[in-house]
Amino acid sequence: MKRHLTVLGATGSIGVSTLDVVARHPDRYSVHALTGHTRLAELAAQAAQFLPRYLVVGDERSAEQLALLVADGPFEGDILYGAQALCTVAADPAADTVMAAIVGAAGLAPTLAAVEAGKRVLLANKEALVMAGPLFMASVERSAALLLPIDSEHNAIFQSLPSHYTSEAYRGGPRGAVAAAQGVDKLLLSASGGPFREWSRAQMAAATPAEAVAHPNWSMGAKISVDSATLMNKGLELIEAAHLFAVGADQIEVVVHPQSVIHSLVQYRDGSVLAQLGNPDMRTPIAHALAWPERIDSGVGHLDLLAVARLDFAAPDLERFPALALAYRAAAQGGSAPAVLNAANEVAVAAFLAGHIGFLQIAELVAAVLETCQPREPDTLAAVQACDRDARLQAQALVSQLTKKG
Ligand code: NAD
Ligand code: MG
Repeated sequence: MKRHLTVLGATGSIGVSTLDVVARHPDRYSVHALTGHTRLAELAAQAAQFLPRYLVVGDERSAEQLALLVADGPFEGDILYGAQALCTVAADPAADTVMAAIVGAAGLAPTLAAVEAGKRVLLANKEALVMAGPLFMASVERSAALLLPIDSEHNAIFQSLPSHYTSEAYRGGPRGAVAAAQGVDKLLLSASGGPFREWSRAQMAAATPAEAVAHPNWSMGAKISVDSATLMNKGLELIEAAHLFAVGADQIEVVVHPQSVIHSLVQYRDGSVLAQLGNPDMRTPIAHALAWPERIDSGVGHLDLLAVARLDFAAPDLERFPALALAYRAAAQGGSAPAVLNAANEVAVAAFLAGHIGFLQIAELVAAVLETCQPREPDTLAAVQACDRDARLQAQALVSQLTKKG
């Protein structure tokens, strides 16, 4: 039976990789809806190629521009706009699978809408889970949704929990997978170390946005590339893993592995360590989650171990990369702390990319907002969004102060 797929964030790095895999399997997948934000020409080209029923953009003006761009092409569906339209297509009964690949907090409501509608949800948008972990996972358990991790590390861990594949314990998401696999000691989360792995603090102080987004192994969107440079990405992933696999942050160890070939590992009580390896190309986890439990061609070449030749490992340096320490703290604190961490980080990264603050100020700003925001226990989407909003306001105020000083 053909799967009907909606791609939230189709014009981004993950969205484009997803459509690349989908295009290889026209017999398996049809595209129901595609959403984009600013890259309208790219979205129009995707519409002409995949002929979805719906396109969604941010506002009325973008919808009008997009209508002109598709006017002479074969696309005959509808163009919708606004945040509510994202939730509508995410929950549309005509689609069974949703790729959640919007970056940042903007992805939370539509991803949750897909979960609540019981879809197969391919989760790339880690910020959604970081912000609203308990709420999100409770919703996965309540609905008949099937949650499959796209983040390469979490996908690797999922693949390294073998009993999971045949286990009755597999219901909603990977939650419970660790318990079902039995005898898991630890999850080992791989980190490339980012472009500044060997830089001193003094060098990082002068780092430019162009240097920060130049990741040595992965080609990704700007925000996650900066997060990889600060190691906040690993911090967000730590919180993501804790929710996905229902383990404490103390059961997750970050291992710096500069080659990005081992995507993560699971350490068992008997001394066994299982890992998933592959070339650093997101089409592998995307294809895995699209077809699970089957395997399909992803377009990724075979891993040439002889060309890789060596695999290195090191502990992360929390002094040079304080963002990771902040994430550990927020994970331990729970409640609103991860949402505050995420919101402050989004504002700080945007300010850094815009040239308003320095690279080291990203983590400083996140630390300051975590200090000042009152801890809360948000138990509804609206409450999580309120924490997000408040933290953003605090972070923006700090950015303005820093900008005036500089
Ligand atoms: P990207 O910046 O390349 O793309 C982001 C997508 O989100 C675009 O389609 C954009 O149109 C859309 N978008 C941005 N702001 C929006 C808004 N306010 N409303 C609606 N849509 C909006 O990002 P990416 O690298 O593809 O990452 C997407 C998500 O996947 C992120 O959460 C990231 O952490 C995660 N992820 C990415 C990678 C990777 O290799 N790129 C790996 C693991 C996880
Ligand atoms: Mg990752």
